[in-house]
Amino acid sequence: MKRGFLGVGIVIAILLLSGCQKDALDDSGKFPAENNAQNKYLLSDGVNFLETEEFFCGTVFCEDYLQYYDKASGISGVLCADPSCMHNSSECGAYIKHFASLSFYDGNLYRITSGTTLRERYLCKSDLTGMNRENIMPISYEDIIMVYQPQKYIVHQGKLFLLGRASAVDGMQTVFRVSLLSADLSGDGEFTVLHDENVPSGVSDTYRFVGGYVYLSLVTYENLDSRDITITRFDIENGTSEVIYQELDMAENPGKIWVTENHEIYLPGWKDNKAYLWKLENNEKVEIASWPADGSSGSDIPDVTDGVVVNISRRENIRWVEIRDFSGTLIYSGKLYPDVISGLDIDPNSCSYSLLGGDEEKLIIDLMYHGEMRSADYTVLLDLKDNMKATLLWGNEEERKLPWN
Ligand SMILES: [Zn+2]
Repeated sequence: MKRGFLGVGIVIAILLLSGCQKDALDDSGKFPAENNAQNKYLLSDGVNFLETEEFFCGTVFCEDYLQYYDKASGISGVLCADPSCMHNSSECGAYIKHFASLSFYDGNLYRITSGTTLRERYLCKSDLTGMNRENIMPISYEDIIMVYQPQKYIVHQGKLFLLGRASAVDGMQTVFRVSLLSADLSGDGEFTVLHDENVPSGVSDTYRFVGGYVYLSLVTYENLDSRDITITRFDIENGTSEVIYQELDMAENPGKIWVTENHEIYLPGWKDNKAYLWKLENNEKVEIASWPADGSSGSDIPDVTDGVVVNISRRENIRWVEIRDFSGTLIYSGKLYPDVISGLDIDPNSCSYSLLGGDEEKLIIDLMYHGEMRSADYTVLLDLKDNMKATLLWGNEEERKLPWN
């Protein structure tokens, strides 16, 4: 993996891009598609990943600085264009201190930062090189962060959305408080509560952001054999919401929804050695395709991201993958890592992984390795157009210091 400063050409292109802030609505009264959040990289809760025309950018576990990979040159490194910076303090433009919650929006990079005191939090805007950082909105620790416990912040169509999941005790029972709040990017940090609901323990939430709407899919589990799914659509402009799909006591185990630019909703699922892809229309789920998935690896529910449906499994210590398009047609079936990954000196099959997202051209995977003597975290691109050819985008390794060393 080559390391270096961000190329000068990219810097200039970025400075040109980071011009004026667009309004939420364009001249024709529509929400411009380029102001959508990058749903295709929202599969994982923990790791942040973004894509611009020129480069990829993201976070790594145990690393306080944003990483980038320049698509044209293959150069990667810390996302900081200051040649005099050593990237070793909070002064560095790439500094994030773990809780980044990155958004790429309207040519700028948005993230959550802390202030000089322990309980200060801000929405911070910078250009794509990390330069010109500016805290543009305070986020109240007492009124917002303590109360709603945000899991993620997403910038979409001129607003900051906060996805909250707080655990609380209701009588004798632990419940989760699931919430969705929004604030205008140009505002003073005043949040509007769009959704605020206590649900029993055993809940998974999926958010997708398309044009003037936010979609929230909430799956709640009463017990192992029973789950309810409710999909609510929030109208950003007028603040209303509508339940657009609900199924109580669903037989299959549902996964995370995908919403296309045309507001078509896809839902994956799994039951009894069979994986499903449904399309949701008029409060009905229409089966698009189903296929055998034996569930031996535990990750039986397919992941759906921009145009592809992904089933990863494990047999004989090797990870396998089946990739389908939205008609259910198989487009790849084989090893997830057919070749060695240049720059990795460990077998990727021995790593745990999380699928960050992708599209019809690529999958982005985060690989984590925890050995006796070291731990490592790598972000890898798998090329769907080139037999899953792997490119290491960036990584972080730590020697494990034993107490007697
Ligand atoms: Zn730096």
